[in-house]
Amino acid sequence: MKAVINRIIPFSSVDGPGNRTAIFLQGCNIDCRYCHNPETRGMCRQCGLCVEQCPAGALSIEEGKVQFNPSACVQCDTCIHICPHDSSPRTEELTPQETYERVKSQLPFIRGISVSGGECMLHPDFLTELFCLAKKDGLTTLIDSNGTIPFCSYPHLMEVTDGVMLDIKAFDNEEHRALTGASNETVLSNALWLAEHKKLYEVRTVIAPDLYDTERSIRRTGEFLAPCLAVNPFRIKVIAYRPMGVRREYADCRVPDPKYLEKMADILRSCGFQDIIII
Ligand code: SF4
Ligand code: SF4
Repeated sequence: MKAVINRIIPFSSVDGPGNRTAIFLQGCNIDCRYCHNPETRGMCRQCGLCVEQCPAGALSIEEGKVQFNPSACVQCDTCIHICPHDSSPRTEELTPQETYERVKSQLPFIRGISVSGGECMLHPDFLTELFCLAKKDGLTTLIDSNGTIPFCSYPHLMEVTDGVMLDIKAFDNEEHRALTGASNETVLSNALWLAEHKKLYEVRTVIAPDLYDTERSIRRTGEFLAPCLAVNPFRIKVIAYRPMGVRREYADCRVPDPKYLEKMADILRSCGFQDIIII
C-alpha cells in the first residue's frame, strides 16, 4: 500500500500541540476557491509539461513517468505554477513504513505526527498503518481534514488517532458548495461525532469576507458547536484569508484586518468559546 506524499516537514509547531512532524499527502476531493496549496489537489497525469519548463534540469521522464531530482531543484516553483492539473512533480510514492522511516530520525525531538493534504482521509488504510507505527514509539497522532469523509466509517483508524483538526469552511450548505464544490453535511455530522468521541482537537475556519457571509457563518458555527464543549473542550482557529499561494483569480480578495478578526472571535466568545486562536 502506497500514498503519494507531497512533502514532509520534519519539525512543525503549527500542526498540533508541541513539535511535530507534518506529512502532506497529495490529492484532494474538494476545490476550495482560496486554496493556499492548489498544487496538492490533483494527481500528476505524467503529461511532461513541467519537465520542459524546469530551468534547473531537475525533472526528466523515464518510462512515461516524471522523475524528480531534489539535489538539482532550485525551488523556483515554475513546475507547480505551470501544471494544468493542480499537481506537482516533486512528490514521492511511499508505503506507511517508508514514510515512518522519515519520521524516526526526529523521534527524540517530536511529540507526534500530523497528517494533512490534500485530503489525507482519502487514504484511511495508509493512515491506520502509519499511526500504528507511530503509536508503538509513543507518538501522538493527528489528522488535518476537510471533514467530507465520515470518520465513523473507520473505527480502527479512530482508535489510533488522538485527534482531528477539522475545517468548517462555511456553515451554510449552499455557501459551502459555492466555496468548495461540495456539501458540508458530512463535515457538520463529523464535528458532532468527533466531539462525542472526544476526538475533536481543533476546528479551523478561514475568514474570507469576499467569498461568503463570514459573520453569519461564524455565529451559526459557534451556536452549533457550543453544546459540544461540555463533552469535548476544543480550540477554534480563526484564520485570515491571505493571498499567498492562491490561484490568480482569487488573489485580490479582501484580507480581513485584525479588528474584523477580533469581531469574529467575539462572536465565538459570546457562544461560549474561550480557546480561540486568531492567525
Ligand atoms: S506535475 Fe503537472 S505538469 Fe508536471 S507532469 Fe504532472 S500533471 Fe504534467
Ligand atoms: S521547483 Fe520545479 S521547476 Fe523549479 S527547479 Fe525545482 S523542479 Fe524545477
